[in-house]
Amino acid sequence: MKISTITFIIPCFNESETLPEMYKRLSSLTDKFTNFQFEFLFINDGSSDSTEEILKNFAKSDKRVRCLHFAKNHGHQIALSAGIDFANGDLIVAIDADLQDPPELLKEMIDKVYEGYDVIHAQRRNRSGETWFKLFTAKLFYWFIKRFSTQELIENCGDFRAFTRPVLEVARRFRERHKFLRGNFVLYGFRQCVIQYDRDSRFAGTTKYPFKKMVRFATDAVINFSTLPIRIVIFISFLLLMLSFVYLIRSLILHFVFHVTIPGWTSLIVLITLFASLQLFCFAIIGAYVGRIYEQVQNRPLYWIKDVQNISLDDASAISPCIQEIIISRNIVNSKCNIVNEESTK
Ligand code: UDP
Ligand code: MG
Repeated sequence: MKISTITFIIPCFNESETLPEMYKRLSSLTDKFTNFQFEFLFINDGSSDSTEEILKNFAKSDKRVRCLHFAKNHGHQIALSAGIDFANGDLIVAIDADLQDPPELLKEMIDKVYEGYDVIHAQRRNRSGETWFKLFTAKLFYWFIKRFSTQELIENCGDFRAFTRPVLEVARRFRERHKFLRGNFVLYGFRQCVIQYDRDSRFAGTTKYPFKKMVRFATDAVINFSTLPIRIVIFISFLLLMLSFVYLIRSLILHFVFHVTIPGWTSLIVLITLFASLQLFCFAIIGAYVGRIYEQVQNRPLYWIKDVQNISLDDASAISPCIQEIIISRNIVNSKCNIVNEESTK
């Protein structure tokens, strides 16, 4: 495969402390690869610190820096998806902004592409500088997914990965709201491989994945790739139905054959509580799926953008097949409308 342009997709949420260093590392790295053109696609995920100004300054002096600014925080996975929509490269590298993922791994990634691979997952050999809580929740996360999700996952692989243009085209077509990209990329197929790296600690700032977000992420991982929870519910309900049937027969025999009055009260209460709580549990699981269906049929845009830098009008065409995303920037909204109209008249 021939590579002429390489895109780095960098989601940023309140990363003002790490961005100058990140940019420096990226620039000095890419200076060594004179055969390729580069594009640094920063997605500002509704940051409230000075991330926006910093990115604008980079973009002013360096045309390789291209920025999308979300109007609000949409989350890391959606930020990455926007990156996927707007990337122009033949090889795309998704990387965190906090320098936990060394951009220098690019060399190995390129080698793997030349060997014929299309998806190159970067796997953490170790995770230095992370709190025991983060390590524990990460372990719990992988345990949970292994147990409950049907989608195969590569352990200790986050969202640091490289992929080729054909994979990008496929990734763009997956428009689910609750994304779990590390599962999706395994699902896409093509030729995949894993390379290992040592994960550094965060260059500055704190994690933007607090426990609450991790729990939400793990739920997405299970529900997106499996109907197992629903099947478990069906199994439990069936089992309980059988048990209650046996209990019914027992009560009838006791009443009509042996004429013993059943003291009953305790067992009644126990049964009512058991069944009521189980019913609630079943409803909650089914509700989780129904909720997703509801959100999906609402068909809201995955994200909306309040400002861009160094993004040309043509780039908007990348997202036109899905017509879901909104760019609220006066100079490109017209072009987007044209694209939409063109499509609808086809
Ligand atoms: N991030 C984002 N939106 C969010 C949360 C995180 O764009 O709502 C970005 C963040 O700026 C970073 C990357 O996603 O570049 C990974 O986040 P973080 O380093 O906080 O996660 P961790 O490494 O602790 O799992
Ligand atoms: Mg990090």
